Amino acid sequence: MSHILQLVKERDPLEKEFHQAVQEVIDTVEPVLERNPQYLKMGILERVTEPERVIMFRVPWINDAGQVYVNRGFRVEMNSAIGPYKGGLRFHASVTLSILKFLAFEQVFKNALTTLSMGGGKGGSDFDPKGKSDHEIMRFCQSFMCELYRHIGQNTDIPAGDIGVGAREIGYLFGMYKRLKNEFTGVLTGKNLAWGGSLIRPEATGYGNVYFAAEMLNTKNKTFEGKKCLVSGSGNVAQFTTEKIIELGGTVLTLSDSSGYIYDASGIDTSKLSHVKYIKNMKRGRIKEYVEKYKDAVYTPFDSSTGYNPLWNHKSDCALPCATQNEVNEKDAQNLMKNGVMLVSEGANMPCTIEAVNIFIDKKILYAPGKASNAGGVAVSGLEMAQNSMRLSWPAEEVDNRLKMIMKNIHKTCLDAASEYGKDGNYLAGANIAGFTKVVNAMIDQGVV
Ligand code: NDP
Repeated sequence: MSHILQLVKERDPLEKEFHQAVQEVIDTVEPVLERNPQYLKMGILERVTEPERVIMFRVPWINDAGQVYVNRGFRVEMNSAIGPYKGGLRFHASVTLSILKFLAFEQVFKNALTTLSMGGGKGGSDFDPKGKSDHEIMRFCQSFMCELYRHIGQNTDIPAGDIGVGAREIGYLFGMYKRLKNEFTGVLTGKNLAWGGSLIRPEATGYGNVYFAAEMLNTKNKTFEGKKCLVSGSGNVAQFTTEKIIELGGTVLTLSDSSGYIYDASGIDTSKLSHVKYIKNMKRGRIKEYVEKYKDAVYTPFDSSTGYNPLWNHKSDCALPCATQNEVNEKDAQNLMKNGVMLVSEGANMPCTIEAVNIFIDKKILYAPGKASNAGGVAVSGLEMAQNSMRLSWPAEEVDNRLKMIMKNIHKTCLDAASEYGKDGNYLAGANIAGFTKVVNAMIDQGVV
């Protein structure tokens, strides 16, 4: 199937992250294509790798000093074969069309795995929220929505949060959408509870990640009890991944942000985690502030010239990367193996490079790709949409139970699909095969569109 990768590379030679995401899927679905030659005749690969629509727009905004800035806004509407486009918005200086296309592509298969009826999309901006005042954030969100509102809707495209877009930003975006459209609809998920949000949505990606990892451990008759875990990131996904690991009896030793990481040999317990939430969510500070309060912990700034990330070089049982793409490279994967890690469960999207993933698969450790293990967030977004349509609000326990059940089902779907194609225990192959098959069968049913 190298022709399709060739085509994608020739068409957009600079989109490295998108090439990586396409390669990872194409490599693993080859046996499906061999069994179903009609897919090739129907141009499935060409169609599934080309977004249905890409929207790019100017986002002008004014800072508190009266200076005008211009950022670039995007929405990639990748595939709507099984439902309206659904996927988050990312505000981060590193955002490019390539990054959003990779995220939208992954989202298509992830959403298919949840069994809910959602297509895939992703959007965002190269706007950097760090150091911006609340008013600046609000003006940016309002300007962003002044264009985006034309392209989204509760039955068309329903964005949510991602890096740099949390409850605060969703509030400002929703307010502007409502003002422009004069309607109160579930057009965004991740909303505040008081105006249409779902209980457990903030926790869902992190909790879901740990539920999935616990299912993997269960296949080896193991649990999180007593396991030492390395977690990266310190945002939404990292915080709730940590919270659930602590609840299940594991110990989290590390957290990070883009500047560096903290190592706490005695473990990040519930009260230390509350302090991390205060630093990151209220104070909007940096993870290094953790060591000002917990003096035994060590902060290490990142040094990109070393070629590896020292966070992954500690003795541990499990690693749960929850920050960003390509944060675990080949050398990091070797370090994880050397230090005895038996499970890697991706909270972030594509945090491991292809070389790193190949090491995990060769060594036959428990490895979960993000499109399976972090699908809990979008799954509960789907549940938020269902509650919005019914104008109901389910109790936390009900949402959490549904989340657990969804993660258990995704886990089983991955294992079953992997076995069907002779790749027992390979969650990457299972996730890609199951998600891909569901989407492309729907595309074939709907004709060449
Ligand atoms: P947040 O903005 O809440 O947190 C992101 C964290 O990652 C921060 O600690 C941030 O540090 C760090 N980070 C961001 N960019 C980089 C970088 N280039 N290098 C190192 N660290 C970085 O985002 P989320 O927790 O929501 O998202 C984390 C990951 O999870 C992303 O890959 C996202 O796509 C994925 N995800 C999120 C879902 C959700 O529901 N929120 C759902 C599914 C996947 P800093 O503060 O320095 O930027």
